[in-house]
Amino acid sequence: MHRLTVNGQTVLLDCGLYQGRRKDAERLNRELPLRADSIEAVVLSHAHIDHSGKIPLLVKQGYRGPIYATPATVDLCDAMLRDTAHIQESDAVFTNKRQRRRNTGEPDVVPLYDHNDVDRTMPLFRKVPYHKVTSIVESLQYEPYDAGHMLGSSFVVLTHRDGPKTVRLAYSGDLGRPHLPIIRDPETPPPVDYLILESTYGDRLHSQQTEVAGKLAGIVNRTVQRGGHLIVPAFAVGRVQQLVLMLHQLTNAKQIPPIPIFVDSPLAVNVTAVFRAHPECFDEEARQFLDRQEDPFGFSTLQYIRDVEESKKLNGRQGPFIVISPSGMCEAGRVLHHLRNGVGDARNTVLITGFQAQNTLGRKLQSGMKRVNIFGDPTDVNAEVLSLDALSGHADRDELLAWLAPIAPTLKKVFLVHGEPDESAALAASIRERYKIEALPATRGANFVLA
Ligand SMILES: [Zn+2]
Repeated sequence: MHRLTVNGQTVLLDCGLYQGRRKDAERLNRELPLRADSIEAVVLSHAHIDHSGKIPLLVKQGYRGPIYATPATVDLCDAMLRDTAHIQESDAVFTNKRQRRRNTGEPDVVPLYDHNDVDRTMPLFRKVPYHKVTSIVESLQYEPYDAGHMLGSSFVVLTHRDGPKTVRLAYSGDLGRPHLPIIRDPETPPPVDYLILESTYGDRLHSQQTEVAGKLAGIVNRTVQRGGHLIVPAFAVGRVQQLVLMLHQLTNAKQIPPIPIFVDSPLAVNVTAVFRAHPECFDEEARQFLDRQEDPFGFSTLQYIRDVEESKKLNGRQGPFIVISPSGMCEAGRVLHHLRNGVGDARNTVLITGFQAQNTLGRKLQSGMKRVNIFGDPTDVNAEVLSLDALSGHADRDELLAWLAPIAPTLKKVFLVHGEPDESAALAASIRERYKIEALPATRGANFVLA
């Protein structure tokens, strides 16, 4: 969340939930560092919960102004914020039951927000298509560009006009990378004075996106030969649909055998419906399916699971199959059941497909830990654990630097956000070195004057 103040008016750029160590998340997510009724407008770059997840709390605390986002982002938020409210509500019920059972005497936990707050949030959204310039508060205009990070994702350009003087600020949101499945590549930014830039992979390079399908086929085939199954923790939004599309292509091309594939997540089912409703965000490859009148997100060996009983049946299932299930960082959701049942068996594969924050179960598995806690129980890890980092929705260091190149000549300053400290600092150094621009990591609570 970034606060932008223009002539005494406050605009928020994103308003997300913190994800990471539970204790930190609990504390950081309950606090709102400013009064909700002091905000005039909210600009949302994309639907991911670490960018959008705190908006219902803002509304719960009295925010009634507009929330600007692209049409696909708004539709995704409808599904995702409801899902988040549901998680908050059921977490509170679970915690309170446990506290009462143990007679801890602790006061009941109140959910951060509930479905009523989401009901009040959704009508505040204003759908703004890419490149529609919109005046959001006096003397400030907003224009979303395609960020190529997920369906509907945008980087935003904010223009402040004060008499003859104009100041332009771009906020990258999360920046994608070329050649990702389904969505288009990130657009070239227009000239701006200041840039708030994400730095998730500010010091790392991904493997080539073009090799990812072959790699995925190899992993599936190896697991099938061992007689095991594949457990794929994945973000319900974006990653699940990318994997489904790639597995569809590999199945069509007979590069993998026609084994059963399950997408086990009610949220993923709802979100896939939103993807189907927004072909205007698709790239050429995804459009080809539509041209053939084929559903990119459906084929004969694929089954979507909404019902929890159907999900439980997978626990006893033998033989090769693939289960794709959230959460992407293995911190909650149905994937935990599949991991508990599957990580002990050396024939199986756990395939990590996205960024894993520090201290999450996904990060522990990825870093090769041989014993992890699942549902509080120590569990041995014998399954093969692999990562497909090429599917990352975030630009890596060189891609960030390349995206920046066309606007570097006019940039006055770059603020690095959305990265662990080492990544942000490294990217700041790379930008200073290559473009001779002032670049600095923006820490929580820091203030800057843009003139
Ligand atoms: Zn994101």
